[in-house]
Amino acid sequence: MTKNIYLDHAATTPVDRDVMSAAMPFYSDVFYNASSLHACGQRAAAAVEHAREQCASAINARANEVYFTSGGTESINWAMSVADRTNKKRVIVSAIEHDAAIACAEALASRGFEVIYVKPTCGGTIAPDALEKVIDDNTALVCVMTVNNITGAIQPIKELCGIAHRYGALFFTDAVQAVNSMELDVKDSGVDMLAVSGHKFYAPKGVGFLYVKNDVRTDLDPLMRGGEQEKGKRAGTVDVPSVVAMGKAIEKAHAYISEYNAHAILVGEKFLNSLKYGDIIRCDNKTSDIMSVVFDGINGGRLAVALSCAGLCCSVGSACSAGSATPPRTLLEMGVKNADCAIRFSFGKHTSLNQASIAARTVNAVVKKLCGK
Ligand code: PLP
Repeated sequence: MTKNIYLDHAATTPVDRDVMSAAMPFYSDVFYNASSLHACGQRAAAAVEHAREQCASAINARANEVYFTSGGTESINWAMSVADRTNKKRVIVSAIEHDAAIACAEALASRGFEVIYVKPTCGGTIAPDALEKVIDDNTALVCVMTVNNITGAIQPIKELCGIAHRYGALFFTDAVQAVNSMELDVKDSGVDMLAVSGHKFYAPKGVGFLYVKNDVRTDLDPLMRGGEQEKGKRAGTVDVPSVVAMGKAIEKAHAYISEYNAHAILVGEKFLNSLKYGDIIRCDNKTSDIMSVVFDGINGGRLAVALSCAGLCCSVGSACSAGSATPPRTLLEMGVKNADCAIRFSFGKHTSLNQASIAARTVNAVVKKLCGK
């Protein structure tokens, strides 16, 4: 059997070898509970605090503003729950958010909030003007992701956050797809909360963090109640190896942003230059590691299955909605015609130029066969 080519890094990435080596001792030799007061526990606690500093440093935050969680979904749920603590009744969410944020927005609506979804431009951007039109002094929270998981579109977070703050609203960004390719600076952008997930940047699954600006900390109720871990905000024994892994992974990702982007540009160009069919979804401003391509006349789900049989792993939309028969919300909201014929390709740091050209040739052959071209 030939080896699969994996172009689904937006769904998840492999754990980096250095990251695995950093985590390994904490499964065995240093297996201790980081909350234990004895010397052994304190060794684990020191490693957790080092990882917290690595995470904070990668986004220009203070270490005490980083709260470890189980990943992107938990961080999003927690961040969006902040609206309940305000006495305001409006929440503004971009219409191209991940399912987790959309589901939280729906839950807020069911608890009496007026939820307004802001549509993107046809270039995939949430325009500051569009936010200005719907925000008012009664807005508790604005939620816009940093990088879209379907198109790679980069959102003007600093500008959007500035607007939210002018109206006294909190600003939350889901930066789950941004860590590899973007310099995230919470002091510069001013965001109040930012969500990150380890498995998107070569750390294990099931670990992430939520940045919470110190001024906002008291506004956020604990999502998990119990012990005093994470300053009483997120109870439960800390998963030391995963947290250590994420610290190492984010430090590495942050150091390699330029290299990562340069590589993603080359791989993306190689792929597109070798592709005979399909229309790439163009964005106003995007990362190079994620792209969606529409293959007119072929259902995306059917094409993804046929590509998988030919050894190419890619997806129709986000992995979380893989079971859904509807096309990605992002593309529908952008007004993409034939959004049901789109495939997402996402490249990683190990994707070679050779793999990119084989992948494109595989797509050419499969599309030709399915369309009888
Ligand atoms: N937000 C975005 C933009 C994502 O792409 C994902 C995962 O696909 C998530 C949130 C959810 O993250 P996790 O898988 O860590 O729960």
